[in-house]
Amino acid sequence: MTRVLLVEDDAAILRDIRTVLEANGYLVETTADGEEAWFKGDTEEYAAVVLDLGLPRLDGLAVLKRWRQNRRTMPVIVLTARGTWPERVEGIDAGADDYLGKPFQMEELLARLRSVLRRHAGQATSLIECGSVTLDERQMRVSVKGAPLALSALEYRLVSFLMRNRGRVVPQHELMEHVYAHDTEPDSNALEVLIGRVRRKLGVDLIETRRGFGYIVPGPT
Ligand code: CA
Repeated sequence: MTRVLLVEDDAAILRDIRTVLEANGYLVETTADGEEAWFKGDTEEYAAVVLDLGLPRLDGLAVLKRWRQNRRTMPVIVLTARGTWPERVEGIDAGADDYLGKPFQMEELLARLRSVLRRHAGQATSLIECGSVTLDERQMRVSVKGAPLALSALEYRLVSFLMRNRGRVVPQHELMEHVYAHDTEPDSNALEVLIGRVRRKLGVDLIETRRGFGYIVPGPT
């Protein structure tokens, strides 16, 4: 099933879009909050995102920019208020794949969604390789020398985040923010335990510790 994230803080519009998408066979997850949208899009895999721009806590443009900065490449359709062309330009600049002015016909949203999904499927694969370790973001799978590992969701988030950010030292606090849900507060001890477990499962050197700075998966950025 094609998993789509729908971000909209207007309850009536959210309900309408959700109903239509589900009737057309999409698996829809929703949120009305910018912070939560950013976290979901950053830590989970979606085939596409429908993103309203005016959102509480963190606006849609900021959400989109953060995803793109962090190499999240899923196609994003931005919903803008009618006639606000500067918003559209900003949206495209921030990395939107398409935009739709409100109000719009549901048929048009469906058509645009099909179009971005088709375009995205034609793009390069979403594989990241670091030595003998391969990350497949579509299948949410990590393999070592071609053999898939059995990782928990937490372990997968840790490995995928570090591999997407390869070549850069990721500070502990940043890593924790991305690996754990934003409303839980694990201590740095828990992170060390998690990293130890992941290293044992990997069985190869992938994650290096930079004492006092954080962790890094070495490699070209
Ligand atoms: Ca809004």
